Amino acid sequence: PIPDQYRVFGNPIKQSRSPDIHHIFASKSQQIINYQKQLVDIDGFANAVADLIDQGGKGANVTAPFKEQALALADELTERASLAGAVNTLTFKEGKILGDNTDGEGLVQDLIINKVLLKQRRILLLGAGGAARGVLLPLLAQGPSAIVIANRTVSKAKDLCQHFNDERLSACSFAETTGQEFDLIINATSASLAGDLPPIPTSIINSKVVCYDMAYGKNETQFLQWAREQGAVDVIDGLGMLVGQAAVSFAIWRGVTPQVQPVIKKLRAALK
Ligand code: NDP
Repeated sequence: PIPDQYRVFGNPIKQSRSPDIHHIFASKSQQIINYQKQLVDIDGFANAVADLIDQGGKGANVTAPFKEQALALADELTERASLAGAVNTLTFKEGKILGDNTDGEGLVQDLIINKVLLKQRRILLLGAGGAARGVLLPLLAQGPSAIVIANRTVSKAKDLCQHFNDERLSACSFAETTGQEFDLIINATSASLAGDLPPIPTSIINSKVVCYDMAYGKNETQFLQWAREQGAVDVIDGLGMLVGQAAVSFAIWRGVTPQVQPVIKKLRAALK
């Protein structure tokens, strides 16, 4: 049979591991797909999607800087995509473009795999950019008692609270987290990409708190290194979230939930 066609669109796109991840999912679940990365011109996104649909493509992942354009292009949106203000998964079905956002579910699933409890727990979310916004609804759905959003620009954290309109949400500066207790701290700032640390007080790290960084790489991020030194009970990087969001996309397209652990292991080995 001719394999069903999928793409990941982005600019840049060279770094994307999505084709490898999806092809491993497919081979392990006896699915036949062809998934390629495609570099798209900054003003060429809508055309790239239209071309893929013309060629009989079944779906696409979307990465920076096209997630907002994908949202605008979709005929129908899931609630989580609509609230995230961004789409990372497009499905072409019966002449319609369906938009979803699987980043938050990818994070939640990775937390569950790592046995991090969320129900009735207090979460500190660092950052108020696209990644933070994308994970809030799936996190809230897990029943935490509170999510405090701390951001360098506090007004952006306040805007997020307003946007999601949930009484469990509050906003503050990094310094204002002093004296508060958390079960889980999630770094959704891009500080790690610059080798920086969000300036949170050392006093909030203790032997009960789990620290998660959405960033990942060959070396442990600054944030996770620091949290480990301060005595956090566990530190986890964002590689599992990356594989998790791909797994949720794959399940949407193929109706099969793939195993993530072998893929995380493989990518981890390739990073070294
Ligand atoms: P954005 O550019 O949308 O937001 C960046 C955020 O980081 C803002 O809140 C910004 O604060 C804050 N920030 C930037 N630099 C610093 C610093 N030096 N100190 C403190 N805060 C800082 O980025 P995204 O939300 O798209 O991405 C955030 C991170 O999440 C990245 O590391 C990205 O790689 C990762 N990510 C990982 C995914 C995965 O699958 N593992 C998926 C998506 C994202 P301010 O508002 O004040 O500017």
